[in-house]
Order: sequence, then structure tokens, then C-alpha cells
Amino acid sequence: MLKINNVTKTYGDSVKYQALKGIDLEVKKGEFVGVMGPSGSGKSTLLNLIGTIDKPTSGSITLDGSEPAKLNQEELAKFRRNQLGFVFQSFNLMPTLTVEENIVLPLTLDGEKVSVMKKALYEVAVTLGIESLLKKRIATISGGQAQRVAIARAMIHQPKLVLADEPTGNLDTKSSRDVMGLLSRLNQEEESTILMVTHDPFAASYCEKIIFIKDGELVQEIYNNGNRREF
Ligand code: ADP
Ligand code: ADP
Repeated sequence: MLKINNVTKTYGDSVKYQALKGIDLEVKKGEFVGVMGPSGSGKSTLLNLIGTIDKPTSGSITLDGSEPAKLNQEELAKFRRNQLGFVFQSFNLMPTLTVEENIVLPLTLDGEKVSVMKKALYEVAVTLGIESLLKKRIATISGGQAQRVAIARAMIHQPKLVLADEPTGNLDTKSSRDVMGLLSRLNQEEESTILMVTHDPFAASYCEKIIFIKDGELVQEIYNNGNRREF
């Protein structure tokens, strides 16, 4: 489904720095993949490229055969909204809006009908157990609750691929467990494909496969059945 083919990323014009040095990676539909590696190894860069926030310097990234780097700004915005879901460490929710306003935001931006939005909102709220929070403002809920809301927003339009950047980074042990349980259930029950960057070994324990990046290169893949592959 997601194919990353010999991707490099170079930052800077005068002093060039190669943050990714030729990454090859394939993620299958329904997989839950973790990305780990030391700080500065290129994890965020990789996530930004896959998330179409930035473009590779060379190589290609395709999602079900379409290559976002080839789209114009308008097509790209649509691609991002329709095909991708983002869950960030800092939640990226609008503090002054209510929980339900935040969750339906991607659909509002697409001009979706209110009846369709309501149905989608109800389904995702039940799945994530946040029905009682819908009318509250983001500023008044806890970190663990906010992360659930962020996941609800990422899932509401049933994206092909969910990109999670340190989803447990700001959470206590119990909230981390809840959030990872949720992502895991979405992965197993809704067949969501998830790519998650994490430093947290507990969060990583939920992944079927973990890829390790070091100095911009893929160095190892470990599967949860114990198999591993070195590069
Ligand atoms: P990680 O997420 O693994 O910590 P990053 O992808 O953020 O790593 O960074 C990889 C390398 O690229 C680092 O050396 C970082 O300093 C550099 N880098 C990241 N973003 C930029 C940028 N916008 N401009 C220049 N260098 C950058
Ligand atoms: P709930 O969200 O209903 O409380 P759990 O958090 O216990 O459920 O588990 C949700 C899903 O995550 C289950 O499918 C379970 O198999 C899986 N899971 C729970 N703990 C772990 C773990 N430490 N590592 C990997 N998968 C786990």
C-alpha cells in the first residue's frame, strides 16, 4: 500500500545535510509499524515526507499507486485530508473549539453534509469512548482525553494511512496504555494502517514490526514474532 523507494532528503543550500540516505520501505494494508531510532536520525523527516508536509529530494513515495509529490497544492491538500490521518504528540487540537468541532474539522473543510458528519462523529465517538466529552472545550479536558480526541479526528474520514508522531510522548502510564490500546483496536478491528514514530518501548510493544533508523539509514527491522532483519 505505502511504497517508499530509495528516498533521500537533503536540507540546506550552502551546507548540504543528507537527513535520509536512501530509504526503502513497504507498509502493507492493515500493518501497524513503529519507527524508532536516536534523536536526529531522520524519523520526523521520514514522517513529514510520507505525510506530504515536505517532498523527497530524490526517490518516490506512493500510496496505493498515487504519488503525492506530483500533485499541485490544491490536489495535495485534498489528498492529505482524504487519505491521511495525523496524530501528533502535542495533539494539534484547536483549544477554543469543542471536542466535536475539532473531530469534524476535516469533514467541515471538505464541505461534507451535516447529516453525514453527525453519523461519522457518533460512530467514532462510540468507538473511542468519548461520547460524554463531545460538548466540552479542548482547553478543559485532560491530556489522555485530548489524545483520544486527536485519534478520533484522525480516524473520522477513514484514512488509508494514520501517521502518529510520539502519541504517548506527553502522557502518563495509564493514558499511554489507553491510547495504545485504542490504536491497536483500530488497527485490528478497522484494519487501519498505522505508522508510528516513538521513543517509548511500551508504545513500540504494540507494533507488528519496528523499523530502526540511524543516521538517515534503515538499519534493522524487528517483527513481534521475534524475526529480525539487518541491513
Ligand atoms: P529525528 O526525528 O529522528 O530526531 P529529524 O528527522 O528531525 O530526526 O532530523 C534528521 C536530521 O535532519 C537532523 O540532523 C536534523 O538536524 C536535520 N533537520 C531536520 N529538519 C531540518 C530542517 N528543516 N532544516 C535543516 N536540517 C534539518
Ligand atoms: P481496551 O482498550 O479495551 O482497554 P487493551 O488496551 O487491553 O483494551 O487492548 C487493546 C488491544 O491492544 C487488544 O487487541 C490487545 O491485544 C492489544 N494489547 C494490549 N496490551 C498490549 C501490549 N502490551 N502489547 C501489544 N498489544 C497489546
